[in-house]
Amino acid sequence: MVTFTNLTRAPEIGANSYLLRAGDSSVMLDAGMHPRRDGWDATPLLDQIPKDLEAVLLSHAHHDHIGALPLVTHAHSGAKVWMTSGTAALAEPLLHNSVNVMTRQRRENGRMDYPLYTHRTVDDCAVTWEIAPLNRPFRMDSSKLEFVFHDAGHVLGSVLTEIRAENRRALYTGDLNLQRQTLMLPCQRPAGPFDTVIMETTRGAQPTVPGHDRAYFEEELLSAIRATFDRGGAVLMPVFAMGKTQEVLTLLHQARQSGKIPQAPIYIGGLGRVMTEVYDRQRSLAPRQHATLRLIPEAQPETFDPRRLPTLRLRAGHIYLLSSGMMTPKTTSHTIARLFFPREHDSILFVGYTEPSSPAGLLRKAGQGGSVEWGDLTAPLPIRCEVRYFDLTAHATREDLVSWICEDVKPSRVMLVHGDPDAQEWFSTTLAQTRPGMEIVQPPPGQPIPLFPQPA
Ligand SMILES: [Zn+2]
Ligand SMILES: [Zn+2]
Repeated sequence: MVTFTNLTRAPEIGANSYLLRAGDSSVMLDAGMHPRRDGWDATPLLDQIPKDLEAVLLSHAHHDHIGALPLVTHAHSGAKVWMTSGTAALAEPLLHNSVNVMTRQRRENGRMDYPLYTHRTVDDCAVTWEIAPLNRPFRMDSSKLEFVFHDAGHVLGSVLTEIRAENRRALYTGDLNLQRQTLMLPCQRPAGPFDTVIMETTRGAQPTVPGHDRAYFEEELLSAIRATFDRGGAVLMPVFAMGKTQEVLTLLHQARQSGKIPQAPIYIGGLGRVMTEVYDRQRSLAPRQHATLRLIPEAQPETFDPRRLPTLRLRAGHIYLLSSGMMTPKTTSHTIARLFFPREHDSILFVGYTEPSSPAGLLRKAGQGGSVEWGDLTAPLPIRCEVRYFDLTAHATREDLVSWICEDVKPSRVMLVHGDPDAQEWFSTTLAQTRPGMEIVQPPPGQPIPLFPQPA
């Protein structure tokens, strides 16, 4: 029997990590780090990983799916790590960046447990990496499990992982998008039916308004940028360095070319630039739109140097596309935001998920005319600039997911992961109503359960 263990500490968008065990072979799906927790509390349940772990399969290179990987390969030196070439090219600089962030936190916040791993651990980890192509089955030497990667349409290199064992099939979605973005294509839809689907539930608490599709939000965003420039303002867009930066940079580049926005300078961060270079190099190796577009030479983003921040004066008609997306304290988007707050002709425009308790979530909630606690400042800051949100999501909408699952995939069992409790609750209720008889499971942390439904 194949068992599945949820290695996250709670049902939430946290440290994604799951364990499959078939006889004496065991394989992990993802090895993430919780983006909003600190220290060892941010890691998955590492002590539940068997000593003889054979492999780790990565769905994509976001921190909540790869951040704990060096800890896993360090403790399990026999394990190989499988991923696409896009994920490998992104993951290595991202993991080295995590070491830099943790080292800075040790210096600035006295976190003596940091860094949890070093550059050396990341280098040793990268030696264990294997590249798997899309749509072709692969297996580990001794494993009873076979896998197939299918493009997931979320970010460069992202995959759905098909799991084959005991003549049955399961599908782990990782993070997926069923619709196009500006660069990414919609996810590939492997032919069903599957016995089990392990499904992300990020957007379960977020209803889709009819007519408010991606094209609508793209036009709304461009019109908000035009309006800001018309009143002599600058634009800040807090984004993740990988994924959102390249999607939005492409959108803005195309809008400048077609005259929808003026020829504005666009600043991106240092890590955003490194990630954009990887996107450029991989442009014809992974499924995407605009496969000939090279963002660095063609969109010509300027690299923003954070050392300029203490003396920076915002300029009319400039766009700052800076990380982090959640505006975590001490990141560039968090620090520069204070310059925008007092100026009513400026705009802070959000283009992706903001966790409600993060600084970005609090700022969105406060909105123009409100006030927000910011970093370690003693008094809340009044917000005079425009604050708006445009849903340029990299995740499938909940409505798309329900119809895909119930009409195409038709599994006997759905396991809900990667979502906050209210998001999982919505999926649990809606899937049960839409396809009665389908078993819906919220896998409890740390408890092995059968991967496939058992005969009664
Ligand atoms: Zn992701
Ligand atoms: Zn994720």
